[in-house]
Amino acid sequence: MICQSCGRANELGAKFCKGCGAPLASDEGTQQNNSYQPGAGYPTNMQNQYGMPQSMYAGTTRMTKEEFDQCESIKPIAKNIRASAIIAYVIGAISLVANVILGGNVFGILDVAIVVGLGLGIQFAKSRVCAVILGVYSVFNLIYMIVLTGRPGGWLIIICAVYAIMYTFKYQKAWNAYQQTGQL
Ligand SMILES: [Zn+2]
Repeated sequence: MICQSCGRANELGAKFCKGCGAPLASDEGTQQNNSYQPGAGYPTNMQNQYGMPQSMYAGTTRMTKEEFDQCESIKPIAKNIRASAIIAYVIGAISLVANVILGGNVFGILDVAIVVGLGLGIQFAKSRVCAVILGVYSVFNLIYMIVLTGRPGGWLIIICAVYAIMYTFKYQKAWNAYQQTGQL
């Protein structure tokens, strides 16, 4: 399907252009012209096809978040958000092994839960709030490390939080702009 506004070729049946976000003309018109043969009558499955999309998608002019994430300009942002969440899981795993299992610090499990929980919020909800909380947590962690050991530590969490904040905000900005304009 060729996008009317930017000319990009999209998969057959796609409802929105992956390049510019414009709604693609539904296949009703083109299918009617292409595959209706006089005398042949409508195949019954085609009638079903008409009934479904019309009732379901009439008035739908915006992509869902899943569709939005697959667009060319959004994919890299979503990928970076996922990467920052994965760093959070790795930090959680390291902390679990080093502090809880090897260090015997039972309360360390709380740190693991916080970091992994915020990572999940960042990955699946692309939550800016989770990213900011992770940032605050990482600063407190840094101070705690200075008090405890005399030197700063926990750099990986800080990097992870900065990364998560940058990209969750970028994502939300793009999503808000898309909601308003219908364009990517
Ligand atoms: Zn387009």
